[in-house]
Amino acid sequence: MNADRVLADLRELADLTGGPDGARRVCWTDEWVRAREFVRSRLDELPVEVEVDAAANVWAGLEGEQEGFVIVGSHVDSVPAGGWLDGALGVMCALEALRSQAERGKPPVGLRLVDWADEEGARFGRSLFGSSACAGTLDPSEVRDLRDRDGERLEDVVARYGVELDRAHESGAQLTGARAYIEGHIEQGPVLESRGEPAAAVLGTFGVERHLAVFTGQTAHAGATPMELRRDTFMATSQAALAIKEVGIRHEGVCTIGGATSEPGVVTAVPGRTEMLLDQRQLDPDILAAMLGDARAACEQAAADQGCEVELRHLWSIEPIPFDDRLIALARQAVVDSGGKDTAIPSGPLHDAAEMARLLPTVMIFSSSSPPVSHTREEDTPEADLRVMIEAYGRTVEGALELAAAGDLPPRG
Ligand SMILES: [Zn+2]
Repeated sequence: MNADRVLADLRELADLTGGPDGARRVCWTDEWVRAREFVRSRLDELPVEVEVDAAANVWAGLEGEQEGFVIVGSHVDSVPAGGWLDGALGVMCALEALRSQAERGKPPVGLRLVDWADEEGARFGRSLFGSSACAGTLDPSEVRDLRDRDGERLEDVVARYGVELDRAHESGAQLTGARAYIEGHIEQGPVLESRGEPAAAVLGTFGVERHLAVFTGQTAHAGATPMELRRDTFMATSQAALAIKEVGIRHEGVCTIGGATSEPGVVTAVPGRTEMLLDQRQLDPDILAAMLGDARAACEQAAADQGCEVELRHLWSIEPIPFDDRLIALARQAVVDSGGKDTAIPSGPLHDAAEMARLLPTVMIFSSSSPPVSHTREEDTPEADLRVMIEAYGRTVEGALELAAAGDLPPRG
């Protein structure tokens, strides 16, 4: 891998579709098309066939000595005013993997780049469009009538970009012969920065449990109701929130109270109803289930202590998706060999890799994020850390190609 070329491509893409106000490669827009044209212009320099599938994912393949292929990729789309590295780093790493393999002749098995369509879901609120279509987990009826800010329907908008929604699942044919999936990405959080580590292998993506806790008590006059005779849902929510923070700490997961709304919400009344948004994440499914059980118990205890009732309503959940042990071991070693430490962390955010991990041996490699923020133009990573990550990525791809050639990663039928 030539890290200089990856960095040059990233900077050129940022100049073309970013700048001081951040990246503006929102999927299903002209700027996104421009970003893809840039990637296309780079691919056209290589001995590869470029193809756009039924879900608007771009594929470019290099043939190998043996049948089947390892997939490398990520997404060039961004959130509005997003960062220069989110998604783009993984695509440019994949491009360089293809380019460096092509310079050396035929790889032992094939190598295919993918640029997934609409990872971010920035326009319609549905993330992982292209990769979920490919993995067979996109239900057209669930997304057809999603509308953007201007009231346009998803089905109509994607049709303008060549996607017939009911046929998007045909993208899955691209996986015939696939042996593994490897994705590079920025961490988008503070863990690696706080440890002073440039890069890491990724263990998998967190499972997520989202609930709305509805506390009901009694609305009452703020002056006329003595403290001991109140049924105050705000107090119950507060007590539950502090207990749930400890649940996250105790189980080494993350618990977030995203917000709470009280009714009637005036200074002269004890709130008789409060709704609290709860998001919980962990990599281990049993621990995630225990976290949810503990959070429920904390809500019930708080409600009982404050003379209230509580009901937990399910909003959304996804199971934890672990990556492949052999590829994780490969990536860990690759990070060490590239100047990092032997480390592997879970991913809090979801990624296209989570969709692929349902079907293929998968691994991701993170670079640090510093400042540790993403989905904002302040998103960045020190160049030295990017170089470690790029090198580790190259070694991981190399290792996967060798494993595949040795018969350890059989092609998908
Ligand atoms: Zn991303």
